[in-house]
Amino acid sequence: MQDQLQPFLDKGNGDSRNFAPDMAEPKQTDRMEKIVSLCKRRGFIFQSSEIYGGINGFWDYGPLGAELKRNVKEKWWRSMTQDREDVVGLEASIIMHPKIWEASGHTSTFSDPMVDCLLTKKRFRADQIEPQSGTVYKYTGATIKTTGTTVNKPFEALLQKGDHPDRARKVARQFYAQGNAEIPLDQIDLLGEETTPVENSTRYNPENGSLLTDPRPFNLMFKTYVGPIESEDSVAYLRPETAQAIFVQFKNVLDSSRQKVPFGICQIGKAFRNEINPRNYTFRSREFEQMELEFFIKSDEAAAKTPATASNNPGTQANWGWEQWHKYWVDERVKWYESIGLDRNTLDFYWQKKEELAHYAKATVDILYKFPFGTQELEGIAARGNFDLSQHQQFSGKSMEYFDEETKERFVPHVIEPSAGVDRLILALICNAFAEEEVTDEKGNKETRVVMRFHPRIAPVKVGVFPLLKNKPELVKKAMEVRDLLRPHMNVFYDEAGAIGRRYRRQDEAGTPYGITIDFDTLGEKPELKDTVTLRDRDSMKQERMPISELLAFLLSKIR
Ligand code: ATP
Repeated sequence: MQDQLQPFLDKGNGDSRNFAPDMAEPKQTDRMEKIVSLCKRRGFIFQSSEIYGGINGFWDYGPLGAELKRNVKEKWWRSMTQDREDVVGLEASIIMHPKIWEASGHTSTFSDPMVDCLLTKKRFRADQIEPQSGTVYKYTGATIKTTGTTVNKPFEALLQKGDHPDRARKVARQFYAQGNAEIPLDQIDLLGEETTPVENSTRYNPENGSLLTDPRPFNLMFKTYVGPIESEDSVAYLRPETAQAIFVQFKNVLDSSRQKVPFGICQIGKAFRNEINPRNYTFRSREFEQMELEFFIKSDEAAAKTPATASNNPGTQANWGWEQWHKYWVDERVKWYESIGLDRNTLDFYWQKKEELAHYAKATVDILYKFPFGTQELEGIAARGNFDLSQHQQFSGKSMEYFDEETKERFVPHVIEPSAGVDRLILALICNAFAEEEVTDEKGNKETRVVMRFHPRIAPVKVGVFPLLKNKPELVKKAMEVRDLLRPHMNVFYDEAGAIGRRYRRQDEAGTPYGITIDFDTLGEKPELKDTVTLRDRDSMKQERMPISELLAFLLSKIR
């Protein structure tokens, strides 16, 4: 198991803790380990560049993971735009004009406080250091006995309660020996030792007690250069979010799509953040995908002047103010999560407090999922006022105003932003689907069945098709006919290898909701069962006979 976990346990600078400190319960850690192992074994998720030792914060999706991800994005896209009259899509470039990030505030403020260990140079996010108590051992410097040289540099190390003081002294000696590995530690005399008790301090490396640097802001944007010359003038950034492209294309979309406010623009795409501590498997990655909607609405004053007519979408009103739209989108998003198999009781909500809100935001609610390593954010839904469009209006000098035919007024629209992460959602769906249960086989032996209970709508493979025996050409031929009947409509997996029970188990682990077996009755051994198959349900493991002619309609009703 350790091997399976190694890729995301401790790799390179800054990857100090994979599982967050809130991952307290050993049982849950166990569960997470099993999930990670299954993801690799069955081809859901692989570590990026694994054969070269991996690269921290980057992940690849294997055959099953790629299907799952496509299905989730397709469902989001369908529900956000194709099923609605008032949202249109966009697919923008990843690298955009660097001024965009000045206008949005990312160049100056998109940063996390970062600290480095003075001994190992390992990097941590300052706000993620667990508070520690103990005794601080302080030194003014050290003398190297072999050379007679003295280093006058202060250093501190924290000694946890119960540890031997030599532990702190060893850390201090290692610090003073830095850059001179040949010096034996016993040849270093520490100077000016003083001790002070501390409570709940975050100034020391939790792994070795060494003092950390003061926090410094670390901009999370990945920098690159456009064109052949690497100069300040050619600097550009990989986008840290997909949202800004939507704001800067607001006018083009408005002019080309004949939409009227309230309306939205949505986008799915890659985003990049040079996170200081990527951790919790794929939860916090450096390259990830977002699914974002910017839903443009009238200011409350403009909405109040609008007639109370129904808008294009059932259940919404043209004259709603920001609070109603915000509530509406929270409800819509929760319904969507339910539709792909995340029950309401697996979710939680965090309403940001007034003092936590960005200065322009009116409200932000985070939709959280109860991961095995803690309850954490899947999606944020923010009422952002008209900050973004106003900023781009100011920085670009181009008007972002909208002319309202109904009120005959011009204004910069306000926005509600439901912003979700694809990878976090995939991880939530995988955690949610994973189940182990004890079952008894035909011979009465008990065994553990691992089953991924994905909702059929998002399951990577919808149905497995199995001829009972592979050495009976008539069975194989019929099974291939069934496969070809279903294949144009869904992802089908054909498998003829091994005992039928083993084939079912393989599909259980892949999360395939249905299995179809073609047997001798299908061929007409019992004439009344000719052209029927057994249809096995992944969750109940119940099998029923169904005519081949009814399969497609049945399966489509489950996966749509
Ligand atoms: P966090 O507080 O967890 O860093 P955030 O509030 O900065 O997230 P947003 O900027 O609101 O995140 O991004 C919207 C969504 O994008 C998040 O809800 C999350 O699902 C996803 N996301 C953000 N950062 C990452 C990341 N490093 N790895 C994977 N997904 C991410």
